[in-house]
Amino acid sequence: MSPAKQPKARPRRSAGAPATAPAAKAPAAGELLGAHVSIAGGTHEAPPRAGEIGATAMQMFTKMANRWAERAVDDAEARGFRAALAQTPVAVTVVHDSYLINLASPDPALRRRSIESFVAELERCHALGITYLVSHPGNFMDEREAGVQRNADAIAEALERVPGKTVLCMETTAGAGTVIGSTFEELARLLDLVPARLRRRMGVCLDTCHVYSAGYDLVRDFDGVFARFDDVLGADRLRVLHLNDSKTPFDSRRDRHELIGEGTLGPEPFRRIMTGDRFRAVAKVLETPKLDDATKTDRKMLARLREYAAGH
Ligand SMILES: [Zn+2]
Ligand SMILES: [Zn+2]
Repeated sequence: MSPAKQPKARPRRSAGAPATAPAAKAPAAGELLGAHVSIAGGTHEAPPRAGEIGATAMQMFTKMANRWAERAVDDAEARGFRAALAQTPVAVTVVHDSYLINLASPDPALRRRSIESFVAELERCHALGITYLVSHPGNFMDEREAGVQRNADAIAEALERVPGKTVLCMETTAGAGTVIGSTFEELARLLDLVPARLRRRMGVCLDTCHVYSAGYDLVRDFDGVFARFDDVLGADRLRVLHLNDSKTPFDSRRDRHELIGEGTLGPEPFRRIMTGDRFRAVAKVLETPKLDDATKTDRKMLARLREYAAGH
């Protein structure tokens, strides 16, 4: 499914929805809102978890995200996942890649290992019919520009080796250490260095916590931040939003997610996202703390966001 064709009929503005509690909680048609859910027990267990929290979009890993060990998705797993997904209102699926992958590494062995791991990520996404693969840009370690080039070359190799419809979305980063991608300009440069025919399969995932920590002021200049995004990257590149409040101050360069409306971002940026027409076709996924009960906490967060959408 091409992301350009993805938004289905959206018969009403959620801002115009009746202000009753049930209406605020019910998933609106095509709203594309959800959370990162666990694959404990297998990938086929993720869709029912998304269904349980009333999600219309979901994100998951396809392996243990902090291990190098790879796995392939066989036909039985792919069938099981698709069948489970078909029983939910989830319209868009997002996979987050492993935390160990560093496609920008100056160490040839580590970079090669990362590329092979990243290829396996893309292959699993293809087998499962995943809409978006979200990937953190790497750490350049030595020289920034050389790192951006290495990252782009690795992406190009992987997209070349794994054809398919999954769109690769590079995520905005908070800017700690030597990480690439904490400015829109640098993300644009990364995308530009990928050959155009492969770049067609690329987009951007904007994480609200990360950009705020990187110095984009979503609280005092929401419109300005997205105007900048459009100027530098292009509005149509925005395919996924990670909805996270932040535990750390503006421009802190730190990556600590907080519950929606309870951190330094507060409710307003999320209200703007939930009522803004331009975000309707964008997959919106929570990566907020799960506390002691993931289902209960995620449900509460989605209800909160839907109340913002309903104008509360
Ligand atoms: Zn994120
Ligand atoms: Zn984060």
